[in-house]
Amino acid sequence: MALDATIDQHAREFVTRHHQMLIGNDWVDAASGQTFETYDPSTGDVLATIPRGSSEDIDRAVKTARAAFDPDGPWRRMSPSDRGRAIHRLGDLILEHGDELATLETLDNGKPLTVAKAADVPLAADLFHYMSGWANKNGGSTLQISVPYMPGAEWHAYTLHEPVGVVGQIIPWNFPLLMAAWKLGPALACGCTVVLKPAEQTPLSALRLGELCLEAGIPPGVVNVVTGFGEETGAPLAAHPDVDKVAFTGSTEVGRLILQAAAGNIKKVSLELGGKSPNVVYADADLETAIPGAANAIFFNHGQCCAAGSRLFVEESIYDDVVSGVAEHARSIQVGPGLDPQTQMGPLVSQEQMDRVCGFLASGETEGAETVVGGKRKGDRGYFVEPTVLAGTNPRMKVEAEEIFGPVVTVRPFERGATPGDANATNYGLAAGVWTKDLSKAHRTAKALRAGTVWINCYNVFDAALPFGGYKESGWGREMGAEALELYTEVKSVVTLL
Ligand code: ADP
Repeated sequence: MALDATIDQHAREFVTRHHQMLIGNDWVDAASGQTFETYDPSTGDVLATIPRGSSEDIDRAVKTARAAFDPDGPWRRMSPSDRGRAIHRLGDLILEHGDELATLETLDNGKPLTVAKAADVPLAADLFHYMSGWANKNGGSTLQISVPYMPGAEWHAYTLHEPVGVVGQIIPWNFPLLMAAWKLGPALACGCTVVLKPAEQTPLSALRLGELCLEAGIPPGVVNVVTGFGEETGAPLAAHPDVDKVAFTGSTEVGRLILQAAAGNIKKVSLELGGKSPNVVYADADLETAIPGAANAIFFNHGQCCAAGSRLFVEESIYDDVVSGVAEHARSIQVGPGLDPQTQMGPLVSQEQMDRVCGFLASGETEGAETVVGGKRKGDRGYFVEPTVLAGTNPRMKVEAEEIFGPVVTVRPFERGATPGDANATNYGLAAGVWTKDLSKAHRTAKALRAGTVWINCYNVFDAALPFGGYKESGWGREMGAEALELYTEVKSVVTLL
């Protein structure tokens, strides 16, 4: 594919090169020699040719990660401070190569370059910087034990925090670089070694990140990157008997498969899955922030966020104002190719995703939802879908019950003063939003919502120090913050009779 001469030169060079996977210190083709193509979502044209990994490549990468985890290996022998420094350096390198990485995200995923530069890149760097500090702080503790059946005995008891081992990490396409950072950061801080499987739609930034890991001084074999399809590469990684833990972000449907695959050797599992997050606007909210806030909650990243505020509940007295305000906002969004500086919303990631979202829009129409704005594909080239607001929905309709993962919000009114009972009427529990000037109401609502994150008078606020994860079918465990270390730590109790 001929890439626009104005785009970042390093990204252009990277995209057009012969892509290989990272195993140890080697850049290799798939053992089978097979490849697959990725597409530029803004045009549908072929973007890059990528190695099509299989169980053979996974096996090789796992063996390499196991050798790097060896107690005598360079990673385990590196002092925690040195490990932290290498992780910190990786964060620095991400910033140094920020324009290149942001451009790769835009080409692969479709998101606006302005957003990739303002959000994806700095958040990924910040995650490594934050986690680097934990590398020498994730210690155990000394314990005051009594052992009642051994009166008079004297004890010395403590816990060791040890790395879980070889970790398989399977990530999605919506924030390819950032999801790699969320996964790698805590695993590396804890001293684990990793086989990373990026999504087949968006492998480029993970491959570039693999290079930066080596440049940062993370020893070869600690981070391995194997590209390929879910069933051919992800599944054997999740099932591999020598992988100690699997960390997955993606759909709830695939999360279930990961759980089944992990059962063989009872690997540790963490899952960050889907969402259908409620966003509640009370009548006393500041509508100047709540309306654009509600629009941003769903339209950011084209609705391809597991935390997207996809079910909007508005107190009845302000319902018409909020619906027309959000619809107005949707109409004003500049939809176009991600590389265009005017673009506020790019294409969806793939033909498959566009077809899926359009399928939901068709079902909404059949089931009687009212399309306030949008409702269809935009243009006939690339994978663009109009920002869409659907009213008159109920929890039995597919559009309100299932995760769409696109720029589609359902909106309905709730009675004055009440917390909308249907806010929790979902199998998911990832995130929620509340808009009000009444502090007590805000915190009462935050308590009532069954979700891993509640944003009050804001939405889609992420920070490396803020744990993120789901209740119910939205997952197991918390990423980011100190809690993320628990996902990659084994606790060993050591007891001495003095
Ligand atoms: P989406 O449906 O939005 O593409 P998925 O949950 O299918 O999201 O994909 C997220 C990640 O999971 C991707 O890296 C994908 O390749 C991987 N994946 C898909 N199916 C499987 C599977 N059966 N086992 C392991 N990984 C899988």
